[in-house]
Amino acid sequence: MKTVLLWLLDWTWCLPQTLAGYIASRYWLDNLAPAEGFGAAVIPWIKEHEEKWGVKIYLVTPKSKAGHWFLNVISGFGCGRYICLVDAIPNNGIVDDEDTVSHEHGHIITGRIIGPLFLLVMIYSPLFCNLLGRWKMKHGWTWLHMATWYYQQWCEWLADKLGHVDRKAWLRKWEE
Ligand SMILES: [Zn+2]
Repeated sequence: MKTVLLWLLDWTWCLPQTLAGYIASRYWLDNLAPAEGFGAAVIPWIKEHEEKWGVKIYLVTPKSKAGHWFLNVISGFGCGRYICLVDAIPNNGIVDDEDTVSHEHGHIITGRIIGPLFLLVMIYSPLFCNLLGRWKMKHGWTWLHMATWYYQQWCEWLADKLGHVDRKAWLRKWEE
């Protein structure tokens, strides 16, 4: 019942982002390969959460990502009812893990609350946060410095809150 209601919510109130997420997720779907890293270890967890959250989760391997123009530009997203990420080690040795999946779920909850206004997050987050973050790294910031800044931005902070991600603990994992 909950799954049906979430589906209806996504394809009405959340239509713009669900449509955008659907279209973008086709690239992921076309490039799926058997998960070997993070994804393989947590497939039961992923299946359970797809059901529980009313979402679709697709993971591509780093190899598929590297060979594809679109996957290579977009590191991953949670949009509409689609979570698309990379199986393992996309960013400077940082693995997309359960916290990353939960964070993307936080973006999806944001969208389910604010509906079509989520389009603003879709513009702000990749353009301002992501591109500026990449620019900062080209200008001397370490990955950790950039990530700390990135997850303080309002839409990222909110996704962590709604997705129940302990970002401080997550960042500490990559500190050494
Ligand atoms: Zn995010």
